[in-house]
Amino acid sequence: MRYIIYARKSTEDENHQILSIESQLAELREFAAKEKLEIVASLCEAKTAKEPGRTKFAEMLSLIKKDKADGILSWHPDRLARNAVDGGKIIHLIDKGIIKSLKFPTFWFEPTPQGLFMLQIAFGQSKYYVDNLRENVTRGMRQKIRNGVWPLWAPLGYLNNPITRGIDVDEKKASLVKKMFRVYSSGNHTLKEMSEWCKRAGLKSNLDNGISPGQVQTTLQNIFYIGLMKYKGEVFEGKHKPLISKKLFDKVQEVLKERGKPQKIKHNFAFLGLMKCPCSAAITAEKKIKKSGREYIYYRCTKKKGPCLEKHFLREEDLIKQIKTQLQKVSLSSQDTEKVLAELQKDEKHAKEETKILVQNLKNELAEIEVKLEKLLDVYLNEVISTEEYISRKQKILTQKLELQEKIRDFEQKGLSWLEPAREFVLKLNYTEKLINSENYQEMKTFLKNIGSNHILRNQKLIFSFKTPFNLAAEPRSGEAETLTFPKWWTRWESNPRFPHCK
Ligand SMILES: [Zn+2]
Repeated sequence: MRYIIYARKSTEDENHQILSIESQLAELREFAAKEKLEIVASLCEAKTAKEPGRTKFAEMLSLIKKDKADGILSWHPDRLARNAVDGGKIIHLIDKGIIKSLKFPTFWFEPTPQGLFMLQIAFGQSKYYVDNLRENVTRGMRQKIRNGVWPLWAPLGYLNNPITRGIDVDEKKASLVKKMFRVYSSGNHTLKEMSEWCKRAGLKSNLDNGISPGQVQTTLQNIFYIGLMKYKGEVFEGKHKPLISKKLFDKVQEVLKERGKPQKIKHNFAFLGLMKCPCSAAITAEKKIKKSGREYIYYRCTKKKGPCLEKHFLREEDLIKQIKTQLQKVSLSSQDTEKVLAELQKDEKHAKEETKILVQNLKNELAEIEVKLEKLLDVYLNEVISTEEYISRKQKILTQKLELQEKIRDFEQKGLSWLEPAREFVLKLNYTEKLINSENYQEMKTFLKNIGSNHILRNQKLIFSFKTPFNLAAEPRSGEAETLTFPKWWTRWESNPRFPHCK
């Protein structure tokens, strides 16, 4: 009798102490030696036996049909077949006498009616086992989701913990993922640029590949990062640690939406896109070379919105001078910045005490929301509302819950939410000072857009209004002494320190 060794490693049952291919082969060769079996070929299958159509399996049957071998040596019937089609083929070939012998170290078989019956049961049990396994996996996934544990591959910045079967933060990548959200939220980058940024920053996918623009987008849109999970269209609360605040996440979604619109063509002129003409047409720029050979850049109305009264051109140098004068109004020296920051720190302590009460109120609100969620579930389980309605209502309540939790975290961590914006504001004023002394015109344009609105070029003058809170710094109330220790806006800040709340 000539035998073919057939070994198969399955991926679906690693917990069932199935031998690896190497150990199966070793055991089978030892068995063959002991039983004095002649081996004519060894075939190893990588595919699972759940589905028919395995290549090595087919090759083995064809060798036997061509009379190159008489029997099969395998570890157990469940290595040979786990679906009715393959199992049926084996039994059919034994019936016809084409397969003359089957040997298993773990299963006794002889080609008698009883033997075939046993084999059929062995294959049948495998089929039952596969069906059962599939059922178990699906049930397990559903249970995991209900328990707040993501059942699939961990998203970028997280790891599947093989021991706890939970999702852990991937400390190495998490900080880069956070940075990716922050960088993108500036609105200055395309998805392609972000993909290149990932490459430079050394951020790779969990399978160690580069991150494509499409993957950047998927990542930026994944609610997993704020502690939720979307599974088959339904949103669940996750137990994993969120990496991104809802505030930042929402901002990124806005940027994605904005950037999804067609992009304008880029120009080389630094201040294009900043100003409009009073006639509402855009301002354009052009380069002119004087007889002397000197180059000048001029800004002027495009005159594309009908008649325009503006006759003049504005030279870029003049525009820059005007911009610097405007920026001067909202700049703060490093010395003053330090003073103000020290004052803010004093305030912080006081504010933290006030916060305690506030947090308690929020926590009460949170408790009410929990009750709401429970009631909603009851209503759903009593079949008073439809599944769609349940899902949509649940999502609304979960969003509220998330916002509350975030507020509580913010208050607990930062004392009061106005302190951080206040600090940021002061630092921005100090940044203005640095910007004035630089030649970074691109950045000046972005900054001007951020701190002001309605930039108009009228009669060779740049006019715009400062946004809150920069208007407080730029437009002091009349009667305020110029000799204040602190900048002029500071007194008003103190009398109403919470204004940065309203953007
Ligand atoms: Zn005009």
